[in-house]
Amino acid sequence: METPKDLPKFAVLQLSGCSGCEVSLLNSDEWISNFQLVYMPLVVTTHKIPEDVEVLLVTGGVRTDEDIHNLRKGRARARKLIAVGTCALSGGVAQFKDKHIARESFIKASHRLRMPDMLPNAYPLDRFVDVDLYLPGCPPTPELFLTALKDPENAKIASIVCQECGRQKLNDMRPKHITGMRSGVVLPDICLINQGYVCVGTSTRGGCGALCTRPGHACVGCRGPANPHLNKDPEFVLDNLRRVFTRMTDIPIEEINATLASPWLSLFLGQFTDYTQDQSLPQRTKEKML
Ligand code: SF4
Ligand code: SF4
Repeated sequence: METPKDLPKFAVLQLSGCSGCEVSLLNSDEWISNFQLVYMPLVVTTHKIPEDVEVLLVTGGVRTDEDIHNLRKGRARARKLIAVGTCALSGGVAQFKDKHIARESFIKASHRLRMPDMLPNAYPLDRFVDVDLYLPGCPPTPELFLTALKDPENAKIASIVCQECGRQKLNDMRPKHITGMRSGVVLPDICLINQGYVCVGTSTRGGCGALCTRPGHACVGCRGPANPHLNKDPEFVLDNLRRVFTRMTDIPIEEINATLASPWLSLFLGQFTDYTQDQSLPQRTKEKML
């Protein structure tokens, strides 16, 4: 039997993010018997990432010079680096600029000798280091974490959320207006678009088990683009969503456009960006996406 010392070592490095990904990982305990967690400041007391780490999971975006420093140091110590969650893949919430007042009061209240310098924006990890695998989600489910750690090459991931949703798309139930994201009574078993909800599961990569849509919450796209939408102009994705809504509903196109451009979708639809436009980023191939 393998002792904990023989088990492959993995570490979790948190950059600028909210710890939601860490909490999701902790919701799974299967890794305890398969891996040795050697660094994760939230739960394991240790000062630095050990030298011989098999897998480094990195959560959060790059928002400060300290983030760049820690990321590069972590990259050098790990055989494989996995970018985890929305912030690591697109910058996430931290890209919505500084809240200067909050920052000032934090500086006053803390007695740190040096505050990390803010970068102009929050950036994804692959702008600074090579990424071996991308694990999108906000946060990724515990099952996805396990797959990423164990055998990502042979994982069978549903291509879009609809495949895991189980709700039926109907031809004869055509809403005339958008209901919203979630309000009123949601009918079971029927596609949320047929009920006027703004669900983007048709373009979003699967793998989450349709966590939101099955109980009646519209998918906001946190798993990012499905493979056919990778590295495509955002207009391609929006066109695709428009086509779905015009095919399934009688909602005026202006109303559909206004909703697709609304703030509640922008955080995650931002992940549908064409990253190839940024010369400092490598192309994200489907083989590297989980
Ligand atoms: S509710 Fe959303 S995820 Fe489910 S089938 Fe409809 S569009 Fe697809
Ligand atoms: S249903 Fe959509 S928003 Fe919900 S976890 Fe899955 S991809 Fe994310």
